Amino acid sequence: MSAPIPLARPSLGEAEEEAVVAVLRSEQLSLGPRLSEFERLFAEHVRVPHASAVSSGTAGLHLALRAIGVSDGSEVVTSPFSFVASANVALYERARPVFADIDPVTLTLDPAAAAAAVSSRTAAILPVHIFGWPAEMEPLERLGLPIVEDACEALGGRYHDGRIVGSRGHPAVFAFYPNKQITTGEGGMIALANAQLKERIDSERNQGRAPNMDWLDHDRLGFNYRLSDIACAIGIAQLGRLDELLAARRAVADCYREVLAEIEGLQLPCPDTGKVVRGWFVFCVLLPRGIDRDATIRRLREHGVASKPYLPAIHLMSFYRERFGHHPGEFPVCEDVASRSLALPFFPGLSEGQVEQVAAALRTVLGQS
Ligand SMILES: *Cc1c(COP(=O)(O)O)cnc(C)c1O
Repeated sequence: MSAPIPLARPSLGEAEEEAVVAVLRSEQLSLGPRLSEFERLFAEHVRVPHASAVSSGTAGLHLALRAIGVSDGSEVVTSPFSFVASANVALYERARPVFADIDPVTLTLDPAAAAAAVSSRTAAILPVHIFGWPAEMEPLERLGLPIVEDACEALGGRYHDGRIVGSRGHPAVFAFYPNKQITTGEGGMIALANAQLKERIDSERNQGRAPNMDWLDHDRLGFNYRLSDIACAIGIAQLGRLDELLAARRAVADCYREVLAEIEGLQLPCPDTGKVVRGWFVFCVLLPRGIDRDATIRRLREHGVASKPYLPAIHLMSFYRERFGHHPGEFPVCEDVASRSLALPFFPGLSEGQVEQVAAALRTVLGQS
């Protein structure tokens, strides 16, 4: 069988190649000028005073939680419908992720459920802008607790008030794995307003060193969560192409919306409403209830189309079940969505013909051709 249409593919070209070669020739491969340049350009882009580049989105979430004071025994209210990293980072600090159910349309944290999950031990709320759809921030902000935004899937999105995702000033974490809107291979960025938090994050990503790089003064615990100048140079080149990359993703999403509209019982990603803009990251559909998803994936593969369940419910993963005694039925909306969601091939450069091939395959597999 020939290679199927893949789920994701980075868009890299001459700009990225030249940027990498320039760093190699400069011989300053880490903690060089590309690091601060990437941070400055990113902060400008999301309209916040500061940004700190780190080695992954996960590392960014971890440092952001530490910076706002999540520690041993505290609780972090978050969504069970996310990539597992957003819950794991609480455990890195021996805090407990406390899940709250999601909204069935936007798939983001249900503000009422989040409010009900708050206790005297809650140290932070960690909303996830899942599939690039910004969580409803105002009701979460009214809870008066520190917030860290998982914006790893939401570069280019706009909140309900029309402002760009990352601009609210809470630490908002972005990720640059190769399937994201922009990539640095591996990498992440924390956008934030507070200079003291940035100072702490910059120190802790670099072994707890003082900002002036005093070799001997490690006055706090730190990590190696640095992002190399090679990666930052790729990031700068990608950021320069962001508008083009986002427009290409949007065009593919529009095309999908058109060709999939005819398939009965399929729930498509909710369209932009009011001032909300989705930062397009994946194109996930919800299959009709009663359809065998594994069989659907196998048969799509036979038609030359890659697809995958995306995402599984975090609280039902065996590690979380065993550690916290979670069980099916706790978060019914999340569980229903997680049992039916299917990611289809989605990346800039996916052609109209390929989108039509995906739609035709799905129609056939669902018995609607
Ligand atoms: C990609 C992603 C992350 C971070 O991933 P890394 O691989 O560590 O960069 C975190 N949360 C969500 C929702 C993501 O999609």
